[in-house]
Amino acid sequence: MTFRLLILGGSAEAFALANALAHRPGLEMITSFAGRTKTRRPVPGKTRIGGFGGPAGLAAYLEREAIDAVVDATHPFASRIKANAETAAQQTGTALLHILRPPWQPGKGDDWLIAADMREAARMAPEAGQTFLTVGRTELAPFAARENGEFLARIIDPPEDGTKLGRIKLLQARGPFRLEDERKLFAEHAITCLVTKNSGGTAANDKLTVARERGIPVIMVARPAPPQGKTVAAVDEALAWLEERLHEHV
Ligand code: NAP
Repeated sequence: MTFRLLILGGSAEAFALANALAHRPGLEMITSFAGRTKTRRPVPGKTRIGGFGGPAGLAAYLEREAIDAVVDATHPFASRIKANAETAAQQTGTALLHILRPPWQPGKGDDWLIAADMREAARMAPEAGQTFLTVGRTELAPFAARENGEFLARIIDPPEDGTKLGRIKLLQARGPFRLEDERKLFAEHAITCLVTKNSGGTAANDKLTVARERGIPVIMVARPAPPQGKTVAAVDEALAWLEERLHEHV
């Protein structure tokens, strides 16, 4: 019997997991995206786009699609879908695993200020100099409300029409960003402070290297509380967990 896997996607881990499983016999996989970004890399298997309609909608989907296991590989800050997955998996008795990459840790030469959330980060951002925002286009509101300071926000897609930007200038670009390009950007825009979420992983950490090299402070937005259920740190551990589920299934 075919094993049906739902991957909750939107991260490098989701993409790597789907690629690793592309030719696994006896497995059908569906990767689900929230649909926030307008363009995305092609992924093996089926895809679906858009919210499920809360935990109840996700539970109904798991039953309708006869899903055997869910791997939540969403971004560490996507806490709502993680909680929804917990509830829906419990309700339907579906196996669930979260992949949560380790957070970044400050190293020698780093000058980090920890913000509990984006509102606090916006309050902490300095009045002087140019603050670089790599927080996502949906998180700009507290910075747009600032009456002082200069902000440069790097975003993937343009903001919705009518989004208030206040003192924020936009730079539209899609990563991964090379170290050399990050160095150039920080120099060209005379960046004096960086605000970022503690996403972890290697895809977006060169900006932290450049901040360290230039001796500028980083306002690091702490992660939301982690999910309660079974969690691994990396894709290879998720593959091992899935192999166990697949063996139980036959
Ligand atoms: P969120 O706050 O946890 O989720 C908000 C709602 O979006 C969920 O309740 C769900 O809608 C829908 N949703 C989220 N992920 C989904 C998925 N993979 N498939 C289908 N529906 C999904 O998430 P978010 O922070 O807005 O992030 C949205 C997506 O962008 C996530 O998939 C995440 O992996 C990706 N992403 C987020 C960040 C970030 O910083 N937050 C960064 C990079 C990528 P319903 O309740 O209607 O099901």
